[in-house]
Amino acid sequence: MLNIVLFGPPGAGKGTQSEKLIEKYDLIHLSTGDLFRKHLGEGTELGKLARKYMDEGRLVPDEVVIGMVEDKIKETKDGNGFIFDGFPRTVAQASALDKVLEDLGLKISGMIALDVPEDILKERIRERGKTSGRVDDQDDSKIETRIKVYLDETLPVAGFYDNQSKLTKIHGVGTIDEIFNNIAKVIDQY
Ligand code: ADP
Repeated sequence: MLNIVLFGPPGAGKGTQSEKLIEKYDLIHLSTGDLFRKHLGEGTELGKLARKYMDEGRLVPDEVVIGMVEDKIKETKDGNGFIFDGFPRTVAQASALDKVLEDLGLKISGMIALDVPEDILKERIRERGKTSGRVDDQDDSKIETRIKVYLDETLPVAGFYDNQSKLTKIHGVGTIDEIFNNIAKVIDQY
């Protein structure tokens, strides 16, 4: 199985690249942001809980995220593999993921980290905010919070996979296809 962590700051292009990767490699897309937005749209208890964090650009508590991901993995573990997008976002989530996978006899193949300069990220998020309807895309202070949370809490996750020799960085500026081809070259080595 190919189990890939697609990593990068908000606005790095994880969603865009995930769509192309699931098609090429026939993988299941597990985006915690998308799952939370689905719960939010359906007005579930989980959605209501997540909303207050998401709207402010803060992280939903680890135990909530981990429980949701674990259910999803167990529900669908028989495919070709997963693309984890927007997860793990803390070192605690990364160790919990290793444990869940290990119990199922699975493991992470590798992490692909998209590198994009901060000024380009902000520009992309603001642009997306015009059409995404996402509260967290439309306000400069919320965008700043998300980038700060990324630097403080999420960036250490790259170190977690680097320690396991599973980290590859990819330059995340260029055409969608150029970036995609560079990612595919890495995955074909797994
Ligand atoms: P982005 O476009 O910023 O990468 P996502 O769509 O992945 O954002 O997630 C949107 C919001 O959902 C985050 O700002 C956060 O509040 C919440 N969220 C998503 N994934 C996680 C996670 N793994 N841990 C905690 N909170 C999360």
